[in-house]
Parts: sequence; C-alpha cells; structure tokens
Amino acid sequence: MAVANQKGGVAKTTTVASLGAAFAELGLRPLLVDLDPQACLTFSLGIDPDAVEVSVHEVLTGAATAAEALLEADDGVDVLPAAIDLAGTEAVLLPRPGREYVLRTVLEPVAGRYDVVLLDCSPSLGVLTLNALTAADELLVPLQAEMLSHRGVGQLLDTVADVQRILNRDLVVRGLLPTMFDGRTVHARAVLADVQERYGLPVLSPPIPKSVRFAEAPAVGRSILRTSRGSKGAEAYRAVAAGLVQAWGLQPHDPAAAAEQARR
Ligand code: ADP
Ligand code: MG
Repeated sequence: MAVANQKGGVAKTTTVASLGAAFAELGLRPLLVDLDPQACLTFSLGIDPDAVEVSVHEVLTGAATAAEALLEADDGVDVLPAAIDLAGTEAVLLPRPGREYVLRTVLEPVAGRYDVVLLDCSPSLGVLTLNALTAADELLVPLQAEMLSHRGVGQLLDTVADVQRILNRDLVVRGLLPTMFDGRTVHARAVLADVQERYGLPVLSPPIPKSVRFAEAPAVGRSILRTSRGSKGAEAYRAVAAGLVQAWGLQPHDPAAAAEQARR
C-alpha cells in the first residue's frame, strides 16, 4: 500500500511508521519502504540515514538487490532505508525505459516474505511516487483535517487516474485518512464532510487525533505505539490497522494480540 500525498507534513511518514508497528503487534510481518530523500521514515525507525550503506537508491538503480538493503528496525518491522543519495535517483531513472516499473520489479523477490508492504512517498508526484503507485495494490491518502489542506487531492487523484490507465490498472484507492484531527473544531469536521462528498472517496476511521506525543516519537527511533502505548493516537492507528487487516482478509499470526485489539 502506497501512502502518498504531494503535500508535505500531512503525516505520511508517521502513518507508515505507526501502521507498521500496529501490524507487527498483530503478529504480521510488515516491510516499510522509505521513498523520501529526506529519509524521515528511516530516521524515525532508529536508523541513521548517514550510516546506511546500501539504500533504496542502490536498489532502484540496480547496484544492489532489495534483499541486500533490508534492515531490521526496533518496532518489529523491516525497512528498506533511504539515504540522502535518493535525491539523485529520479535523475538516474529518468532516461530509462520502464522507469515507473523499477520499484515493482525490485520488490518482487522479497515481497513474498511479508504480509504487508507500506511505501512512504515523498511530497511530490515525481518518478519515485509514480513508482510507488505502480508497485502498489492500494493507495492511502493521509489528509490533514484543516482548511485548504485538501486542495492537492484533486491533482493527486488525476495522477492516480493516469496511473490506472497506463501503468497499474489494479490500483485501488483505499481511502483518505484524516490526520491531526481536532474533532472539537467545527471546520475540521466540515472539511472532512466536504472532501468526502467532493471526491467520493472512502474516509477511513477513526481519524487520527492531533497530539504532541507524535512529535516526540521519531527522536527516539520508535513509533508512538511504543513511546506512548496507551495514547489516543496509538489506539487510533491500531484501530485503522485492524480495519485494514480485516478489509484485506489477512489472518493475524498472533490471535491473542488480535483479540486484544478487537476488545479495545
Ligand atoms: P509527512 O511525511 O506527510 O511530511 P510527517 O509524518 O513527517 O508528515 O509529519 C509531519 C509532522 O507532524 C511531524 O513533526 C509529526 O511528528 C507531526 N505529526 C504527525 N501526526 C501528528 C498528529 N496526529 N498530531 C500532531 N502532530 C503530528
Ligand atoms: Mg514524510
């Protein structure tokens, strides 16, 4: 599942890290792929991007295999890490034929090891994001539930339509995920209703509440599910993950954890 929105700061990376940890809690095996040259996902999983020797750049440009780049992170997830050299990847791919299919091709040999693969996109609709949309079965669009923040959604959906026509017929938009949601404000709720109506997309629930706890987690290399286990934000991501697992018909490997989540 690609997690994309060309707007920055809408919680794409937070969503990938948190859902990954939630899937791991359920006993599933998640792989998280960092496709942003800023390498925030890699960093927030406790890995120093400057110390990464084989990154997604080498994998996408053919210098290494995905298996050679995989790292194990603390939250029970594997990661295909990014480093700063990812900033140059698009330029390398640009003249290549089939450049949008590279990620799909390189992930194929390792994808079978995992129950779910999450792709953390950069804030652009460039070649790397097109690679993510081509490799993915589904797209999740985090959306900050604040006025004006949905303006780019139409453009993103135009790109998705192009991808579905040309590159990946089977791409499904799983839905919008409201993030940094402050249900007390009338406009947060109004924006949600407006977006839902305007674009005719499913809105996943529950919305992810706004909380300062989220800012603290990346610095210690852990997701909020570990740093603030019982917080509303952690619980919201667990509930979204459980909904996805159910929608996909996946069998959690840890029935006790699954029952515990259902109970909450
Ligand atoms: P993106 O990947 O879309 O650029 P990030 O996941 O990096 O967005 O999040 C941007 C900032 O917002 C980060 O500082 C993150 O800690 C913070 N953040 C994410 N989710 C929430 C939330 N639910 N409440 C408050 N702050 C959040
Ligand atoms: Mg990000």
